[in-house]
Amino acid sequence: MQTVFEQYEKSSEFLVCVDSDGCAMDTMEIKHRKCFAPEMIKTWNLFEKEDYILNLWYDLNLYTRTRGINRFKGLAETFKIISKEGIEIKDLDSIINWVETTNELSNNSLRREIEKTDSEGLKMTLAWSLAVNESIENLPQDDEPFEGVKVGLEGISKLADISVVSSANGEALDSEWNRHDLVKYLKALLGQEAGTKQHCIAELKKKGYDANKILMVGDAPGDLHAAQNNDVNFYPILVNKEGFSWERLLNEAVPKLIEGTFDEKYQNQLIEEFNSSLK
Ligand SMILES: [Mg+2]
Repeated sequence: MQTVFEQYEKSSEFLVCVDSDGCAMDTMEIKHRKCFAPEMIKTWNLFEKEDYILNLWYDLNLYTRTRGINRFKGLAETFKIISKEGIEIKDLDSIINWVETTNELSNNSLRREIEKTDSEGLKMTLAWSLAVNESIENLPQDDEPFEGVKVGLEGISKLADISVVSSANGEALDSEWNRHDLVKYLKALLGQEAGTKQHCIAELKKKGYDANKILMVGDAPGDLHAAQNNDVNFYPILVNKEGFSWERLLNEAVPKLIEGTFDEKYQNQLIEEFNSSLK
C-alpha cells in the first residue's frame, strides 16, 4: 500500500499547512471544559478546591504558552502546582516520574508501566485518560469550524495547495472535515498516524515546494516549533480572535506569501503578537 506521502501530488508552487483542533475547528474549549478538567476533578476527588483547579487547568491547556500540551504533561504540571498549595495527590511522584521519563505518552505505554510498578497514581491516571476518551466520544457532534474558515480555505485553495497537519487521530479528523464539507479544499488530511507535525511538514517539503513558499497555520507553540524546525513560515490563529485571524490569513498573509513579501519583519511581528496572546 502506498503511504499518504507517496500518493501526494503537488499542484501549486505554494503550500499552506493547517492545524485542526483550536485552529480550524472550535473543539479545544469544549474538550477541556466538558471532558479533561471535570474528569480530573472526579477521578482525584478534587471538588473542595474545584474552581481554583479548573481555572489552573484552563490556563495551562488553553490560554498560556503551554497551550496544546499533551494531556499527561498537562496533568503532571497541574498536580505539581496544586501540591505546592497543600492539595495532596496520592502517589504523585510516580505520575511525574512516568511523564518525565517515558518515550511515549500514551495509554498503552501507561498500561505497561502499571504492570511493572503497580502504582496507584498511574492506575488513576489511566482511569482518567480512558474516562476522558469516553466523554469526548459522547460529546454532541455539533462542533463547528471557526468563523472565516470555510471562506478562508476556499480562497486559499485557489492560490495554494492546502494540507491539514494535525496531531489528532485520523478517524476523528476525517469525520469532522467531511461533516463540514471542507475536504474538497485539501490536498491531504494528515493526522497523528502520518507522524508528528514536524515530520509531516518535512515530508511535504520533499514534494518540491521551496521552504519560503510554505506556510504553517496553527494556534499553539508546538505548531510554531514544527514550522521553525523546518525553516518554513508560520501564521498564528490567535485564541479568542479566530475569526479575525482567518480573515487576515486570507486577505494579508497568503497574498504576502504569494507575492514574496512574507519577510522576516512580518514573520517576527506575527510571532510577537502570537506570544503576547498567550500569557
Ligand atoms: Mg491546535
